[in-house]
Amino acid sequence: MKLLCIEDNTELIESLRYFLEADSKIESTSSGKQGVAMATKKQYDAIILDIGLPDLSGLDVCKLLRQADIQIPILILSAVRDSGTKVALFEAGADDYLTKPFTVSELRARLFALLRRSNFDTDKQNIYLLKVGNLTLDLLSGRVERSGKLL
Ligand code: CA
Repeated sequence: MKLLCIEDNTELIESLRYFLEADSKIESTSSGKQGVAMATKKQYDAIILDIGLPDLSGLDVCKLLRQADIQIPILILSAVRDSGTKVALFEAGADDYLTKPFTVSELRARLFALLRRSNFDTDKQNIYLLKVGNLTLDLLSGRVERSGKLL
């Protein structure tokens, strides 16, 4: 998986690289603004986002990403356990929240769980549906619908 890690703790990024390199490619930045710019330019599978960044808060970054119509899963990393902070982040479009300190194996498991769901919602569900105008052809079942009505 291709991950974008928006985090200013370089040691943490290095350990993520070390433990996830077998199945992931990680690009990182310590700047929230740059992270949003990277996510709009390139295709990633998921974003790992720290709450405390030098320029923007993780909450602002999360809002900006969703406003830019970036739909991929966002997993928040934070030392903050406060439930109000978590609720605000989920409302801003975060998909998961992991409290520091955490184990890389838990982070990895959570990322894969998020990806399973997002892949299911996007790729796999639509891959067999062919749409032309108001006609929809389901390549698996052979059903054809016009404006939602079965022909
Ligand atoms: Ca930080």
